Amino acid sequence: MANDMPSKGGIPLWEPFICGNEWAYVKECLDTGWVSSAGPFVERFERMMAEHAGARYAVATVNGTAALHIALLVAGVQPNDEVLVPTLTFIAPANAVRYVGAWPVFMDAEPVYWQMDTEKAVSFLEKECDWRQGSLYNRTTGRRIAAILPAHILGHPVDLDPVLAVARKYGLVVIEDAAESLGARYKARTVGHLGDIGCFSFNGNKIVTCGGGGMIVTDNANWAARAKYLTTQAKDDSTEYRHSEVGFNYRLTNIQAAFGCAQLEQLERFVECKRRLAAAYSRGLDAVCGILTPREAQWASSTFWMYTVRVEKSRFGMTNRELCGRLRESGIETRLLWLPIHRNPPHARCHVYQVEVANQLYDEGLSLPSAVSLPDHHSARVVRAILESRADFTTGKTAVLP
Ligand SMILES: *Cc1c(COP(=O)(O)O)cnc(C)c1O
Repeated sequence: MANDMPSKGGIPLWEPFICGNEWAYVKECLDTGWVSSAGPFVERFERMMAEHAGARYAVATVNGTAALHIALLVAGVQPNDEVLVPTLTFIAPANAVRYVGAWPVFMDAEPVYWQMDTEKAVSFLEKECDWRQGSLYNRTTGRRIAAILPAHILGHPVDLDPVLAVARKYGLVVIEDAAESLGARYKARTVGHLGDIGCFSFNGNKIVTCGGGGMIVTDNANWAARAKYLTTQAKDDSTEYRHSEVGFNYRLTNIQAAFGCAQLEQLERFVECKRRLAAAYSRGLDAVCGILTPREAQWASSTFWMYTVRVEKSRFGMTNRELCGRLRESGIETRLLWLPIHRNPPHARCHVYQVEVANQLYDEGLSLPSAVSLPDHHSARVVRAILESRADFTTGKTAVLP
């Protein structure tokens, strides 16, 4: 995927797995002329996603970021409200909070599964906020807390029950960012349908892709109807071009939805492949000194969307960045974790609550090639390359590295 990857023999971080009805369904769109934002596949994709999540309603969007934007709007998040967002995730949820004029309050990650630290989030709400006239206010900023937006990162669910309980207590909306964890389970429940409204992404590097796309799922009929309305330019009726609000052109096209239907049909198999790959990596790496493999909670079923390890310099001999460069030389593409969002200039002025672990995970995390279709001999090659890097360190050969 990256431009500097050797095209021959390289192992990419990710590639989509297109091996089912994708061609047939997309061809059907082309044959029938239903190529744009109307057509049978959009509804079919929505029905399939509602069924997957166990939700009453699903509304397709042009991408996952748009899904988050609309979810915040229909959930009633107002300008100058605050929304709890984990700092260790892709930047999309924090941006979406800003789109509606609200502010993220950044939460730390926990050190075991690397998800949003829900204990810290609860303690922030209980200890740093005041309850006044039926609303919760952040004592530091004076702003009203409107929602909690946990992101299930890297394929593993957040321990959400404490968040759901505190949200109920204070009347906060829980918006799940399930973009990276389609197919994951939390205590046998489907991720994305644990809170009040859930968002998914079908970007090219997600477990199910349709080129680009997103989905909102909810049991709330009013919110679902409003999401559909806002994503279709807030069009009041289908004959006259009358609009009583500023809407958005956020609808998914039939071609994308056709692609998505064909992919979603294979989700179960994709998840099985991913779990098998994760098991193979862990078998090869569990005993390597200085490499910490990802853990799966007893209450979780992870998809291991990106199989991510921690590289401890003191024990492994090199940093995650050095190992990343080393593997690149062997034609193996890896990826660092995201710079914690609060350290990016557009979000640097937001309130940050006791963030420590997220910074440490950023300093040590490295995602290994994680494509659904990654063959066994490739994962074995990745493991071997990591072992060789460490062997070189212990024999002093790394001294020649830049
Ligand atoms: C991919 C992703 C999104 C949404 O991405 P889009 O590219 O807009 O579909 C949102 N949140 C997280 C955590 C993601 O990884």
